[in-house]
Formats: sequence, C-alpha cells, structure tokens
Amino acid sequence: MEVNLISDTVTRPTPGMLRAMMEAEVGDDVFKEDPSVNALERRVAALFGMEGALFFPSGTMANQTGIKIHTQPGDQLICDKFAHVYNYEGGGVSFNSLASCKLVDGDRGMITAQQVEDSINPPDFYHSPRTRLVCVENTTNKGGGACYDFEELLRIREVCGVHGLAFHLDGARIWNALVKTGQKAADYGELFDTISVCLSKGLGCPVGSLLIGSAKHMEQALRIRKVLGGGMRQAGYLAAAGLYALEHHVDRLAEDHRKARELGQLLESKDFIRYVAPVETNIVIFETRPERVTESRMLEVFNAHEIRLIGMGQGKLRLVTHLDYTDEMHAYVMSVLDGMSF
Ligand SMILES: *Cc1c(COP(=O)(O)O)cnc(C)c1O
Repeated sequence: MEVNLISDTVTRPTPGMLRAMMEAEVGDDVFKEDPSVNALERRVAALFGMEGALFFPSGTMANQTGIKIHTQPGDQLICDKFAHVYNYEGGGVSFNSLASCKLVDGDRGMITAQQVEDSINPPDFYHSPRTRLVCVENTTNKGGGACYDFEELLRIREVCGVHGLAFHLDGARIWNALVKTGQKAADYGELFDTISVCLSKGLGCPVGSLLIGSAKHMEQALRIRKVLGGGMRQAGYLAAAGLYALEHHVDRLAEDHRKARELGQLLESKDFIRYVAPVETNIVIFETRPERVTESRMLEVFNAHEIRLIGMGQGKLRLVTHLDYTDEMHAYVMSVLDGMSF
C-alpha cells in the first residue's frame, strides 16, 4: 500500500469537490466578475469578521502581499527563526519588499510578546532598520503543527499597538488551530491586520489561498497581486473547491489530528526514537537515536514499505496526516511502525 505523508498538500480533490468545481459558475476574476470567487471572498471575510478577502494562487503570494502592504523598502519585520515567510518563500521578503527579518529564537516556531518587545528597534535610532511588522504562524509548520496560546497573541497585539506595528498572521493551517482549540475564526479577525489562509493544505483543495483584511488593505492587495502576476481569469473553478471544502472538510481535521497523535504516541514508545515533538495537530516531528538508526536509514526503511515522509536534516523526520490518509492506510502505517526495531 502506498502512503504519502510528506505533506498535507498531496491531497487530490474528492469526487464531491470535483463535482462542485465542474458545476461552478465562472467569469473573469481580473474584472472581478467571477461569481464563485466573489462568493468565496465574501464567505471567508465574513467568517473572520473582516471587511474583505482576496483569492490568491498560493499562500506564499498571499503572505508576500501582506508583507508588501505593511512595509516600505528598508523596513524590518519580526518573526520566528522557523517562519515560513523567512525560510520557505524564496527570500521574498527582500525580493518583493526590500525588507529584512529580525529573527526571534522562539519555541517550536512560536514567539512571545516579550521577545517581540525586545526585537523592536528604537524608532528614532536612524542607524537601524525601522521595525514595522510582526508576523506569526498558527499552526507552525517547521515548529511541528504547534498552536499558539491565544493569550500570548493578545499580548503581542498589545505590543504592536503600543509601538505602531502591523500584525500579520500566516494562517496556512489556521483551520487546524481552530479545530484543535474550538475557537472561532472571528477571534483571529479581531486581532490581526491581515491574515493569510490556505485551502490547499488540510482542506484538500488543489489550489488556493486568501488574504483577509480591511477594505483599504484589500484595495492595495489587488494591485500587488496584479504586479506579482497573480490575477487569474475563470478562477471560480478553484474557488468552488474552496467553498466546498469550507463546508465539508473543516470539522474532519480532528481525524487527522487523532491519527497524528496516535503516530506520535507509538513513536514515543520506541527505544530507537530520541524525541517526539508534542503533537498538537496534524504534524509529527521526531528524531531518531543516531547510534541506533540514522535519519537516512529510517527514511529508507519507511520507503521500503512504500511509506513516504520527509527528512528535515539534523536527524529530524516529519509525518503529516491529511484528507487522503485513510483509516486503512493508518492501520498499515501503525503496524509497520509497531514492527520496527533497530
Ligand atoms: C504551505 C505554507 C504556506 C504557503 O505555501 P504555498 O505553497 O505557497 O501555498 C505559508 N505558510 C505556511 C506556514 C505554510 O505551511
């Protein structure tokens, strides 16, 4: 049995989603005349209690647009050293916005209000870059699907308010955080100036992200998206997948979380595993004991069983559960893992 656990982006549209896409009403979204895109943007904006939302081809472009809105060339943003915006967007912060990142040494990708406060350059000290923006990620990707304590986010918001900083949420996996904590999307809408969300991760869409924010910010975002080449025409076929996913694929994330938890617990019971990061959502990050089995050997053994996962370097491996990871596959992976010894 082939099982792909390299990421939650590997999912294919379900039959129901494909049907919704086939039946989508579409128009030219560059003229803002695609009814399905318009409906998705309205729906997501309302969900987060914000004025507007804009559909993007990728989470990277949505984040980069958010960063561009909030910064001027030479400015600096504050983020964790694990942040996607810093590590996995091709250097876009400097490429697109001519801005830099002040990296914070957070916990599993999460930073504190105190760390933000300590990272702000004095505004009148003209030798340093001007601090303009704080970016946080929820859940964290490289941090192993960790969820922020909402109280800490409130405190960071406060620091942003005092120092006149914008606050952006990279919410590629915010759906996982919402299901895990039972919070409402609108709680996050109140806190942030802009939020990016992905439809093509846990929610199982083939393509699609949105940037959410005020009407004024969305006006700016529309222009930036155009410059980045992100204006799409009959994008309603993709938006229809998003509308379907919001209806059918959010609550079921709890199942992905359960499977990840079970994988984490089984890994923890193995004496050839040195460490399993706390499993809060759908990502399991673990380290082997290299004297027993190296990262690359571990990958080989999984691959021999047709189970794919990712080696992250420095002895770390990552499993991600998702919509296409069935109960049958889960039973298979659990039994393979249970039988492993080194
Ligand atoms: C996947 C991801 C993104 C966006 O990635 P794209 O592949 O560009 O859609 C942004 N932030 C985080 C934390 C992610 O995991």
